Amino acid sequence: MFAVGLTGGIGSGKSTISDLFAELGVPVIDTDAIAHQLTAPGGAALEAIQALFGDGVMQANGTLDRAALRRRVFADPSARRQLEAILHPRIRQAVEELLATLAAPYVLIVIPLLVETGGYREVLNRVLVVDCPEDVQTARVMARSGLAHDEVAAILAAQAGRSKRLAAADDVIVNTASPEALRSQVATLHRRYLALSTTSSP
Ligand code: ADP
Repeated sequence: MFAVGLTGGIGSGKSTISDLFAELGVPVIDTDAIAHQLTAPGGAALEAIQALFGDGVMQANGTLDRAALRRRVFADPSARRQLEAILHPRIRQAVEELLATLAAPYVLIVIPLLVETGGYREVLNRVLVVDCPEDVQTARVMARSGLAHDEVAAILAAQAGRSKRLAAADDVIVNTASPEALRSQVATLHRRYLALSTTSSP
């Protein structure tokens, strides 16, 4: 199926934009949501994470202590790679399974770390990047999450910068104006993707 990968830094507006595509009837696969399910109680990645990182990343009630895990992998790049080695293949498999169930002109796959991991290129026909200045990202994430400025800065520093992401883009949405301004940008891209999906084979 014709697939558009949506990526952008934290707080850039991926969820807001994927909701607008969904409103137009486009099926959306969200790899963050899949990662969350995989690490929820009963999730397919939970045991492996506990085995690797120990009880220090688990809460007393047996659920994942996400804050503890986040601290762990932020402090230690090799731990981060190990976590990714657990999650990424499982996320990828879930994406493949979902793709096989869909019937639509095209699908939007939200992949926050598309540029960082370099994955998914062979299933994507198009890369859509949400771009906005880092101070705008920071303010939005602080407002949404209650994280401190330094915590958001650390997350941003671990992600690709704007220029690297833009270099991978086929299409760009600039999300610096109001959320309403996104609607027309999304509608324009939707028309483009409908046209492309009828003329390209996957
Ligand atoms: P991402 O999914 O990339 O992390 P979100 O779509 O969740 O980003 O947006 C981050 C936060 O900023 C959310 O609280 C969202 O409501 C808000 N937001 C997104 N776009 C805009 C905008 N154009 N103007 C103001 N707030 C926005």
